[in-house]
Order: sequence, then C-alpha cells, then structure tokens
Amino acid sequence: MPDTPALPFVCACGGLSGEVTGKGVASGTHVACYCPDCRAGQLYLGQPDPAPGPVDIFQMSPEYIRITNGAKNLAVMRLGPKGLFRWYAKCCNAPLATTTSSPKFPFAGFDVARFADPAPLGPVRTRAYVPQDSGKRKHEKPGPAVLGMIRRVLSARLSGRWRQNPFFNVDTGEPVAPPHVITREERAALYD
Ligand SMILES: [Zn+2]
Ligand SMILES: [Zn+2]
Repeated sequence: MPDTPALPFVCACGGLSGEVTGKGVASGTHVACYCPDCRAGQLYLGQPDPAPGPVDIFQMSPEYIRITNGAKNLAVMRLGPKGLFRWYAKCCNAPLATTTSSPKFPFAGFDVARFADPAPLGPVRTRAYVPQDSGKRKHEKPGPAVLGMIRRVLSARLSGRWRQNPFFNVDTGEPVAPPHVITREERAALYD
C-alpha cells in the first residue's frame, strides 16, 4: 500500500496554513455534526449558517496536525466555561479545529472547510446529533466515530505521540493561546 499523502489546509486569508500528515488522514473519521454548538461556533466566527445542514468535521489525533506557517495567528474560544476549545485563525476568523481542554485527551475535530480538496478524507461515516421529526436528535452510525476516537486516543497515549500537539504546551498542559470564553449574551444570540 502506498503511503497516504499529507493534506494541506489553509485559513481563509492565507495567514495560517499547514498540513495533516498522511497518517492523520488515514486514521481519522469523517463526521457530519448537526449539534447546536458546532453551529454556534461557526456563527460566532462569522461563517455562513450551516443549518439545517451539518458542520463537516474530520475527527483525528492532534499529533498529526502540522502548522507550518502563521502559528502566531492561532486563537481559541469557548462557548461556555466548560466548553470545548474552538480553535480558529484570528487573521480572518476561519474555524480550524475543536479540541478538548487537555492535551492528555488528544482529540481534534478539524473543520473540513479548511481543506481545498477533502476527497482524501473519504465519505462521511457518522452523522451526529441529526434532528428528528420528534424534535429529538439522534446519532446515525455512531460506531466509526466512537471506535475511531477510542483507538486514536489509546494509540497516541500508549506511544507517547500525544506529546506532539500544536495547540498545547504539553509540559504545562496550557493552551498556546489564551482561551476566550464568550459571554452569556453573546452565546444566547448564537442559538435559536
Ligand atoms: Zn487567515
Ligand atoms: Zn458538533
């Protein structure tokens, strides 16, 4: 089997760019997420409203993300004090990836819109939080997302590769940019 090539990504203005390594592409899971938080994250950053559609996400290990240009433009916001870290490029507010708040749980949901060519990511495997007629939400085929995450987290932890993380100083556990928690009022405007 030939190795999977690295896949380049770039923010909207070119101020921040990099690549997901071939191993990252090969081990990630393509997910369509319909959850209100993913939508709110897009709206806060001035992106087009994805609703009623999903936000297209590539779930992967952060260790395979290389920021090769403009790392100084990394910024991070949270929708609430306990919310996921939502990383973006502050040069143009392009969403990049969501992560947990600790590098010890290495997870990234990369925004597929940053890839010029998403074809190498393969088809969507899991559709998460899909709205139902009943008003509830349901995961469709959650298996690939759940199993993929468990497999990647274990692999990164056991190998020590979790220590490569472009979003954190792994020695201190601190994010490389100060997290900005949006206000309750800001938050309220992002959900309707
Ligand atoms: Zn930019
Ligand atoms: Zn979501």
